[in-house]
Amino acid sequence: MNVLVINSGSSSLKYQLIDMPNESVKANGLIERIGAENAKITYKKEGFKTSNELPIKNHEEALTQMNSLLMDKQFGVISNKNVIKIVGHRVVHGGQSFSKTVEITQDVKSKIQSLCTLAPLHNPLNLKGIEVAERVFSKAQQVAVFDTAFLQSLPQKAYQFAIPKSFLEDEDIRAYGFHGTSHKYVSEKAQVFLKSKNQPNSKLISIHLGNGCSMTAIKNGKAIDHSMGFGPANGLIMGTRAGDIDQSVIFYLIDKLGYSAEQVNNILLKESGMLGLTGSNDLRDIQQQAEAGNEDCQLALEMNAYRIKKYIGAYTVALNGLDAIVFTAGIGENSALMRELVCKDMDVLGLQIDQSKNQLTSKESRDISKANSKAKILVIPSNEELEIAKQAYKISN
Ligand code: AMP
Repeated sequence: MNVLVINSGSSSLKYQLIDMPNESVKANGLIERIGAENAKITYKKEGFKTSNELPIKNHEEALTQMNSLLMDKQFGVISNKNVIKIVGHRVVHGGQSFSKTVEITQDVKSKIQSLCTLAPLHNPLNLKGIEVAERVFSKAQQVAVFDTAFLQSLPQKAYQFAIPKSFLEDEDIRAYGFHGTSHKYVSEKAQVFLKSKNQPNSKLISIHLGNGCSMTAIKNGKAIDHSMGFGPANGLIMGTRAGDIDQSVIFYLIDKLGYSAEQVNNILLKESGMLGLTGSNDLRDIQQQAEAGNEDCQLALEMNAYRIKKYIGAYTVALNGLDAIVFTAGIGENSALMRELVCKDMDVLGLQIDQSKNQLTSKESRDISKANSKAKILVIPSNEELEIAKQAYKISN
């Protein structure tokens, strides 16, 4: 069955057509600069890639262009759009309303709309993608997969902030977390390495390190703690986001140094993290410069790894044990140096990284721990699109 996965942003749209249940990707691509005269559409299928610049007015036109590529007589993969039976949409915020994947109805759309206040940069665009897809693929079942859903299992002691409780009760102010689809996908794959598919006692920490970074403590397949919070700003040091910070700094910037609240928000989200510490948010540059002796870059890498280590410690306690840590996303999958820094001096947890396994580059899931490591150290490439397709297929069958 053909499942089309759509991840809709403000001026971009990622798509992937996956044949389920055998999980084979038929075609995928990206449409960028939607709204511009020089929008760009990329289309890939096995052994073939094309990209084209053309004016694309809006998301509806973008999906129509994508359709033409999917149905192209020469290099297309489907005969007509009605063979797409399910469209799976990534929706960033499901608030407290959605703890699992759902078929999209009018009521679901109204709820996604009402959650736009919690995710103003994402939910309106996700909703737009849904409405456009409903028109273009009117015969397909539309399904919403929420980034926050996997993290809805957090217990109240983990998600509630220690502020007057009326803020939770009246305004839904609490930690929700993000990257849930990625954490779910890699934690399920990790079970294979633990050979404990039928053993319900796994204690995992998944570490998603990309431009955005987050960690989740997962017990018996359920998330019990997570490093991001009300927004995607909390926790680890990220490409341009500061992560955990003492709120006194925010008030000092506003009250003493005269910054507006909006400027401070911008600094913390867009000018901080690795960018603020080193001048670059690309870890490859930072690693190269650190190797060449740049002390800012060396320190930034240490700071980054130190923050992750602290969360590993905290989550091991929350889990009361540890079977494996899982590295994923751009940095987690590709940076042997970051993995080494994180796993260094972790004797207290019995974590032992195998240096030669760590250095191997691979697109496959792998165990990079030494045989005598008490907990496994895994690298598992994330695949959010496939996870969305799996979940969308599951609820329609
Ligand atoms: P993502 O958001 O998952 O695409 O991850 C983006 C981050 O991954 C950027 O900081 C990249 O510098 C980093 N990254 C990608 N490839 C590598 C690599 N080979 N080594 C180190 N970092 C990498």
